[in-house]
Amino acid sequence: MTPVEDNCNNVVFLIKEAHDVTEHKRREAELTRLNDQLTTSNRELEQFAYVASHDLQEPLRKITSYAQLLLEDAENLNPDARRDIDVVIDGAERLKVLVGDLLTFSRVTTLGRPLSLVDANECLQAALENLELTIQESNSVIKCDTFPAVVADAGQLTRLFQNLISNAIKYCDEARPTVHIGNRVVDSQVECFVKDNGLGIEPRYFDKVFEIFQRLHGRTAYSGTGIGLAICKRIVERFGGRIWVDSDGKSGTTFYFTLNMDSQGAQA
Ligand code: ADP
Repeated sequence: MTPVEDNCNNVVFLIKEAHDVTEHKRREAELTRLNDQLTTSNRELEQFAYVASHDLQEPLRKITSYAQLLLEDAENLNPDARRDIDVVIDGAERLKVLVGDLLTFSRVTTLGRPLSLVDANECLQAALENLELTIQESNSVIKCDTFPAVVADAGQLTRLFQNLISNAIKYCDEARPTVHIGNRVVDSQVECFVKDNGLGIEPRYFDKVFEIFQRLHGRTAYSGTGIGLAICKRIVERFGGRIWVDSDGKSGTTFYFTLNMDSQGAQA
């Protein structure tokens, strides 16, 4: 702005301030508009995810069960037909996982149980039991610390541990994937971590990796839907915590998340 060459500095100042305030308001309005748009499109995505995945469940069940019925008659089928049916079943199973993940993603905030003080050790054990076969088959070494009680929904905390641990095992080319699930208490929060000796994540993907459908590693080499970490983020945020990742991008990744030890900061 060109300075006014008189003794009315205050007026000059006022004009500049008026301009700044207008600019500030314009930006605020633009940001609000963008945020509204974002909220609307997020809500739409969520509704779409829910409706599409919910309505897909029934036809998918039919495809799998009828294909399995066909296989029961395997003796009368030639090898090509049998292979084709296997392909149909495999595709339907993968779709089922995708539909299940989409449903979980869209239901985290709406269908969660009320938050209460839960035993995080039990949730961690439940997650490890669900992953028992994966742990055995991958030859993984799992180390767990003891956790204090935290404010959470036990089912969702189990899912959170399970997603992070299964990723830690999956994205690892070592003969012995090693996963350490630990924590430290900071003020009234517990900072939890899941640390692995796997492929690592490059720093430029640290934020992106929590967005839905983001996949960094080969789609054919590693099965997945790209929804797991987006679910984790939603769960942690519902609990009133924060989730982030650290890695040197080459060897090993650590996912961190905070949980409350009392009910402050958690959403209903
Ligand atoms: P996916 O179903 O593909 O595993 P996620 O949302 O769980 O989806 O993870 C998103 C992507 O982040 C994965 O495809 C993978 O590339 C990367 N990723 C997740 N966890 C790890 C990990 N522990 N180590 C290395 N890469 C990981």
